[in-house]
Amino acid sequence: MPNTKPLHEMFELNEELPCSVEGCKNKRYKLYSTCLKHRQRVYKYGHPKALSISRKAMKAELKQVRNIVLKNRDTHPGLNKAIKWFDKWLLDASLEMSGVPGQYHFKRLYDHGISGEELLVVTAAVFIYSYRNPSKLPSDSKYKEAAVEFAMAHQTTKLIPLEYMTTASGKKRAKFLSKKDRSEIGKYIYDTVGLLYLKMVRSLDRKNDEQQTWKKEMQMDFNVA
Ligand SMILES: [Zn+2]
Repeated sequence: MPNTKPLHEMFELNEELPCSVEGCKNKRYKLYSTCLKHRQRVYKYGHPKALSISRKAMKAELKQVRNIVLKNRDTHPGLNKAIKWFDKWLLDASLEMSGVPGQYHFKRLYDHGISGEELLVVTAAVFIYSYRNPSKLPSDSKYKEAAVEFAMAHQTTKLIPLEYMTTASGKKRAKFLSKKDRSEIGKYIYDTVGLLYLKMVRSLDRKNDEQQTWKKEMQMDFNVA
């Protein structure tokens, strides 16, 4: 039987229920499974619990990726291809080719002289950061990897000056990437070079483990009997 309830009644029924985010005491918003605050986080950051990540917060990850690129650029075939892939994306966008994800934004990046390598460094840093800070960029079965995807797209906007638009009332307002752009750009990066970034996480973890083992071994007790 089709549901014939008026929409406002369905809203009211749903709005009686608690927000599905653990620990949140708010009621749901309209027909969403979360409250308005958490719904807005989904819209902006891809996940109800995701937060905005500053470039400063990823300082360590940026440094580590720059070092990986410097030492492997000429020898690692996957890294080499990934940088070229970003370069081609920028070039295709600059030529205004059809079907290029985030074409308008990537043309702006190209026009500001941003290279494929810079895009790789900043997006790989976000990826590694998400592994170390799952509470800030969570992933789960419902929202999947949207938080890290959105954050990767968002960080690319920080490489160039903000664009401004004039509103109907004549006010100047910053123009941000649309939800569609954030989702499309982020997903394209994740699906294409995610495996490479995961290998960076693993290599860094292994190096860290080796350093910890070394420290432990240097501090082991001697038999002095
Ligand atoms: Zn909530």
